[in-house]
Amino acid sequence: MSIFAIRRDNLRRLLAEKELPALLVTDEHNVTYLTGFTGDSSYLLVLPRRELLITDRRYETQLAEECPGLELAIRGPGTSLPDFTAETVGKLELPGLGIEADTLTVAAYDKFREAMKATRFASTSGLVEKLRENKDPGEIEEIRHAVRIAERAFAVTRASLRLGRSEKEVADELEYQIRLFGGTCGAFPSIVGVGSRAALPHGRPIRESKIGDQDFVLIDWGARGRLYHSDLTRVLVTGKLSPQLHTVYGVVLAAQGAAIAAIRPGAVLKEIDAIARKVIEAAGHGEHFGHSLGHGIGLAVHEQPRLAPDQEGQLAPGMVVTVEPGIYLPDWGGVRIEDDVLVTPDGCEVLTSVPKELDECLV
Ligand code: ZN
Ligand code: ZN
Repeated sequence: MSIFAIRRDNLRRLLAEKELPALLVTDEHNVTYLTGFTGDSSYLLVLPRRELLITDRRYETQLAEECPGLELAIRGPGTSLPDFTAETVGKLELPGLGIEADTLTVAAYDKFREAMKATRFASTSGLVEKLRENKDPGEIEEIRHAVRIAERAFAVTRASLRLGRSEKEVADELEYQIRLFGGTCGAFPSIVGVGSRAALPHGRPIRESKIGDQDFVLIDWGARGRLYHSDLTRVLVTGKLSPQLHTVYGVVLAAQGAAIAAIRPGAVLKEIDAIARKVIEAAGHGEHFGHSLGHGIGLAVHEQPRLAPDQEGQLAPGMVVTVEPGIYLPDWGGVRIEDDVLVTPDGCEVLTSVPKELDECLV
């Protein structure tokens, strides 16, 4: 039995618990997770003893390679995916159909209801995403691979860092190195923020801001390996290490260390967030840590589970999360340190290994 067939059976168990006779999977990552198909513009219909990939003709060859044996409904030119799906699924006269409310558009949903008047629709959220939280050994290996690529790319980029290079050049160099080392692409557009620009947690690298303009730079980057992602952040000193950077960095590092030390199966998500938050609050920076502590990584760069104050769930072996506390001071800059952590049966393993010592690398 293929890993994808096992995943579909796990999903069927969830559907049975919810008394749902069928689910139309419309989220692209969820379709990949359940079939191995890496193209887009396709939906997967999961029935109790059958599944049907509703796809299009451009992918025929790729489908034969990636998911041999999967039953296909192939759409030709002249019809849209929602129209074709309405027609194909409508013929099955299903008593009930679950839809993925987080991705299906209202326009497509209206078409389905129109074409399937006797079908009872049920809105679902996070069913396949729940299965995706717990990675199997193959997925963990893919994440390790994405970590290795990101780390090699960073090592080369760091070694070539020069005063006067723009944030944009550094981000482009990272992207290029990620691809050279075998990555598909960056996991997301890298964030390279010099000094006060590091106070923007999701700032866009610009040409006008250059290494050395202020005495440190924050870099948040990751790689997409084949399909899975890594996500890291480091701060590099590019001038004289200032007492303020030394202090703020020390607080963020302590917060991260305390949170990672508490990661184990059964730990409550929001409590891991609280451990880091308490360290930052005790240093007087509570209001300067405006985001949650971390997120799952996998087929998506941001996925479940989230280490956040509102998350009551628990960690379990096979989950991979980022741990990324930060302190952002609007006029001065920001510090964030981010590593990727695998939950193991008896604790955790930090998958990322880029050094975190604050040395003055360009003086
Ligand atoms: Zn990141
Ligand atoms: Zn992240």
